[in-house]
Amino acid sequence: MRLYVAKTAVIVGNWKMYKTGKDAVTFVKQLMPLVEDTKTKVGLAVPFTAISLAAKAAEGSDVLIGAQNMNDASEGAFTGEIAASMLKDAGATFVIIGHSERRKIFGESNEQINAKVIRALDEGMTPVFCVGETEEERESGHEEILESQIIDGLKGVSKDDLSKVIVAYEPVWAIGTGKTATPKIAQDAHLHIRNVLADSFGKTKAAKVVILYGGSVKPENAADLMKQKDIDGALVGGASLNPTTFADIVHFK
Ligand code: PEP
Repeated sequence: MRLYVAKTAVIVGNWKMYKTGKDAVTFVKQLMPLVEDTKTKVGLAVPFTAISLAAKAAEGSDVLIGAQNMNDASEGAFTGEIAASMLKDAGATFVIIGHSERRKIFGESNEQINAKVIRALDEGMTPVFCVGETEEERESGHEEILESQIIDGLKGVSKDDLSKVIVAYEPVWAIGTGKTATPKIAQDAHLHIRNVLADSFGKTKAAKVVILYGGSVKPENAADLMKQKDIDGALVGGASLNPTTFADIVHFK
């Protein structure tokens, strides 16, 4: 089962450093009946320690379990790190790469993020590749920032593999702040991202890429964002921590 299918909405929860394995099992059991009648693809990026328990709890449902980060090496002497093969072994099918918290707090560069995207693809995992500008960058020209994040982050990805990448546009100023980008601001950025992808990979390939919006998505604003032509789904932080609220976002219509 894959998280991405062109033109099918995708809603991914990012739990960040919240919830134990036990919490994850309870959550998944509550969520499954709430989302069983939807065509929307549903993913939960849970802490490493919750992956295998959450994946087991989600067995037989369409809820996919993923991770929030990984190392770009296949294995090695990297104390405290985790490899894509280990995430897969635990039951993860996708992995968030380049989240703004990784870029800002842990100093991840476009080059490191690129190596992770390539490794995830090599291992058959879906990278949810995050890009987005800070508040200052929005004022000084966010389009160039997005362009370099995309071009550098996807260097070496083949035209065929592009459709296996989910891109998430997450304006940093809208993450965890309650300041959602208006549907127009988000659509303009998504269109820009699609155009940048088209320049490198061709229009046909770019048209099929699933591009998620992330930044204070809630049940109240999800439908208006999802109506936008180039918004294919959402990456949800805070509002993904409650199964009922998250299910309401999944049923955004
Ligand atoms: C996120 O961290 O990916 C995110 C979008 O957070 P929030 O929904 O809480 O803004």
